[in-house]
Amino acid sequence: MLEEENAGPVVGDQVSVAQLQGAGRRNAIELHAAARRILSIHRQVSLRYAMAQVRNLILVLGDQLTPTVSSLASGDPAQDRVLMAELDDEACYVRHHKKKLAFLFAAMRHFAEELRGRGWTVDYVKLDAPHPHASFTAALCDAVARHRPQRVRVTAAGEWRVAHMMADWSAQLRLPVDILADDRFLSSPAEFKAWAHGRKQLRMEYFYRDMRRRTGLLMDGEQPPGGQWNFDADNRKPANADLFMPRPRTHPPDAITEEVLALVAARYGEHFGALTPFWFAVTRVDAEAAFAAFVESALPRFGDYQDAMLDDQPFLYHAVIAQYLNCGLLDPLQVCRAVEAAWRAGRVPLNAAEGFIRQVIGWREYVRGIYWLKMPGYERSNHFEHHRPLPDFYWTADTAMHCVKTVVTQTRDEAYAHHIQRLMVTGNFALLAGIDPHALHEWYLSVYADAYEWVELPNTVGMSQFADGGLLASKPYAASGAYIKRMSNYCESCAYDVKQRCGPRACPFNALYWDFIARHRDSLARNPRMAQMLRTYDKFAPDERQRIAESAQAFLATL
Ligand SMILES: Cc1cc2nc3c(=O)[nH]c(=O)nc-3n(C[C@H](O)[C@H](O)[C@H](O)COP(=O)(O)OP(=O)(O)OC[C@H]3O[C@@H](n4cnc5c(N)ncnc54)[C@H](O)[C@@H]3O)c2cc1C
Ligand code: SF4
Repeated sequence: MLEEENAGPVVGDQVSVAQLQGAGRRNAIELHAAARRILSIHRQVSLRYAMAQVRNLILVLGDQLTPTVSSLASGDPAQDRVLMAELDDEACYVRHHKKKLAFLFAAMRHFAEELRGRGWTVDYVKLDAPHPHASFTAALCDAVARHRPQRVRVTAAGEWRVAHMMADWSAQLRLPVDILADDRFLSSPAEFKAWAHGRKQLRMEYFYRDMRRRTGLLMDGEQPPGGQWNFDADNRKPANADLFMPRPRTHPPDAITEEVLALVAARYGEHFGALTPFWFAVTRVDAEAAFAAFVESALPRFGDYQDAMLDDQPFLYHAVIAQYLNCGLLDPLQVCRAVEAAWRAGRVPLNAAEGFIRQVIGWREYVRGIYWLKMPGYERSNHFEHHRPLPDFYWTADTAMHCVKTVVTQTRDEAYAHHIQRLMVTGNFALLAGIDPHALHEWYLSVYADAYEWVELPNTVGMSQFADGGLLASKPYAASGAYIKRMSNYCESCAYDVKQRCGPRACPFNALYWDFIARHRDSLARNPRMAQMLRTYDKFAPDERQRIAESAQAFLATL
């Protein structure tokens, strides 16, 4: 009997008839009763397991720190589990600025706490956990093995590299993976594609007007206030050094952030940039306070001095909020509504409110549309066939060009430079010197706290380097030293003379500018907006053209 009882597992409805037949009748009845008891226990255990089983595993990425992001909005804290992970691959696919890494990890850790406060169960895998993960895929595989969820759910990735990874997850995990649209933007990639379809030129201005109409921002019925859509022409004043500059609100690190700062110092000490002083907001509440402080003290002059640059003023009247918007701590529509309200209340002039709103619902949305329209492949655009390596001084600031030195030093210290510093100093120099746009793209992507490929790449490749041949910009943003002198006080402290065109003491931007025009004459001649510059170059005497070429070559040889 014992043998028969031990003959094999007796589980489930499959108690074998042979076993019953082989046993005596009494034993057969006992065996059957035992089988039924075991079956009942098995069913209870299965039921309890099913009840405890996670329904959706919701992966939240580091730039999805919004409680209403689509993955979380569609979830249920009672049945779903959130996964967040600090990943070495993400910290190093380009070697991000230390301050940027600290900002993102600290914001992620605070966001996990915020979610727990809202009732979510969060698996948060720290970089210094006993078993950290290198990649999203590794983190997911591990969490799926632990929790055996029915599905994985995630909001669509911001950049193509991660979207490409996501496309494989369902097969790798052998689970359904729901990829939900990121509705934190005002225009989806599909809507942008529809807008772009059939247009000869994709000019931001027309896209922006559509966005104004669609959102109702700064609209009086069907018309813009005062009948004017764009006040850019009013927003190009140089700044006087004695203007009072409000600084962005600073936020001393708390214990969570201090822990992150120590981690980043230990693991990524070799990366570019200063880690401290660290003053970024890392929570939604603080980011909102920083934005409110901007509206109160800097926004009124944001428009007038949007393009100005001053030696010891890294921020001027800029908002310094792109890092908060891009990781989800601030909402683009909400900030624009607050700016419109400040204008309607008479607290800020129209050129400031319009200038700000244009950057957010115009440029920010437009560059994202271009990114998804043109990826993959856009990152390798190189219209002018520029292949010079990135000079070391983009990392060391070791250059006699005071404008470049100032912007790189500030970038190193703050992980921040404002738009005109990026476009007309470091970007302009790279364009004139023929730097490889891809190398420059990787530099911008790594050094700024707000840098994500979807926004950085079109700004670098399209706007700053004209590497897409004019898809994004109507003409190259190339300028000689005269522009930098007009918009800044950099030239006053420079070893070079901005008034000289050629020779060892001449501002390098000057000869490089005319040499750029000469080198790309054929290509630029097709652009009517460059005609004036080509005519000016053509009026130079042959020996002056020769001197320009020699000066440019002599300088480039020093890089
Ligand atoms: C070569 C180059 C690279 C850039 N890389 C990035 C980047 O990685 N991430 C990024 O957010 N911006 C990028 N920009 C755009 C712009 O320089 C930054 O958005 C801005 O400097 C951020 O500082 P701020 O918050 O003080 O902006 P403000 O000048 O106060 O403007 C307000 C907001 O408008 C938006 N905005 C302004 N200009 C642009 C623009 N051209 N494209 C998209 N949004 C804009 C930003 O969200 C910004 O926070 C780049 C520009 C250039 C020329
Ligand atoms: S002189 Fe030329 S290099 Fe020097 S700060 Fe002015 S623009 Fe820059």
